[in-house]
Amino acid sequence: MPATFLSGKKLSATIRAEQTERVANLRDQGVVPGLATVLVGNNPASVSYVSAKEKACTVLGMASFQRRLPEDTSEQELIEVVSELNVDQRVHGILVQLPLPGHMDADRIISAIDPDKDVDGFHPVNLGRLLAGQPLFVPCTPLGILELLKRAEVELSGADVVIVGRSNIVGKPLAALLMQKGVDATVTVCHSRTKDLAAHTRRANVLIAAVGRPATIGADMVRPGAVVIDVGVNRVGTTASGKAKLRGDVDQDAVFEVASMITPVPGGVGPMTITMLMENTIQAASRFGRLVE
Ligand code: NDP
Repeated sequence: MPATFLSGKKLSATIRAEQTERVANLRDQGVVPGLATVLVGNNPASVSYVSAKEKACTVLGMASFQRRLPEDTSEQELIEVVSELNVDQRVHGILVQLPLPGHMDADRIISAIDPDKDVDGFHPVNLGRLLAGQPLFVPCTPLGILELLKRAEVELSGADVVIVGRSNIVGKPLAALLMQKGVDATVTVCHSRTKDLAAHTRRANVLIAAVGRPATIGADMVRPGAVVIDVGVNRVGTTASGKAKLRGDVDQDAVFEVASMITPVPGGVGPMTITMLMENTIQAASRFGRLVE
C-alpha cells in the first residue's frame, strides 16, 4: 500500500494557531516576543529562509528585528552586532543565518551569541545541555522532526531509527534528542564513510535523511512500512515561474510505494523548522518575562 504524506505544512498551521494565542497572552503581560535575524550577504537561499522567518514572526504578532550586513562585513563587525543584540532587552532570540561567507568562522560567531538567546540551539552550551539531558534550546530542525513524529503517533520507544547525516545542526542533535529518556529510540547515525549504507537503512523503522544530495535514498534502501523523514532541500533547477525547484534526499516517487509515511519536499520538515524557531523564541520570551517579574 502506498504511503501517506506527513505534512509539516498542515501541522505547522495547527501549531502556529496555538502559538498566536500564547503570543497574545505574553503581549497582555507586557512582553512582546522578539526575534533578531542577522543576514550577511545576499545568498538567494539564505535571503528566502530569513524572509520566511521574519514573516512568521509578524504573522504571530511577534517583533522582528532585521539586520542586513554586506558580504564583506568582518568577523569582528559581526560579533559587535551580535553583542549589541545580546544586551537588547526587546530581543529574546538571535538567529544568525548560516552559511556565513567563507572568511568568517561560524563557530566563533555562534559562540558569541548569549546562550539564553540562542534560539537556533547551536551554541556549544546548548548542544552540551542537550547531550547532558538538560535541554534549554534544541536545534529547530531536530525539534520539528520529533514534533512531527509525535503528533503522527509514530512509536519511537525501542524503535530502530537510522539517521543519514551527522551535521551539528541536524544529524547529531537529532540523535541526542531521539535517544533521550522518554523518547527511547535506538539510534544509528550514518555518514559518508559508512560502509554499506543500505544495510543500515533497511533495518530502520524510522529513516531520516539529512544528506544534501538528491535521491540518495532509493526504494531498495527502505524497509517496507518504514516512516521516512526527508530533511534534504536540494535546488535542482527553476520552475516556469522562476522559483527554485526543490528535491529532497529521498527518491520520493519510488519510496512512496514502500514506506508507510513520508514527509514531502517542500512542505515537510521545512515549515516545522520555522515553527520550532518561533517556539524557541516564545519560550525565551516567557523565561525573560518570568525573570523580570
Ligand atoms: P551537511 O552537509 O552539514 O551534512 C551532510 C551529512 O551527510 C554529512 O554528515 C555527510 O557525511 C553525510 N553524507 C554526505 N554524502 C553522503 C553519502 N553519500 N552517504 C551517507 N552520508 C552522506 O548538511 P546539513 O546537515 O546541514 O543538511 C543536510 C540537508 O538538509 C541539506 O539538503 C540541507 O539543505 C537540508 N536542511 C534542511 C532543513 C530544513 O529545515 N528542511 C534544515 C537544515 C538542513 P560526512 O560527515 O562524512 O561528510
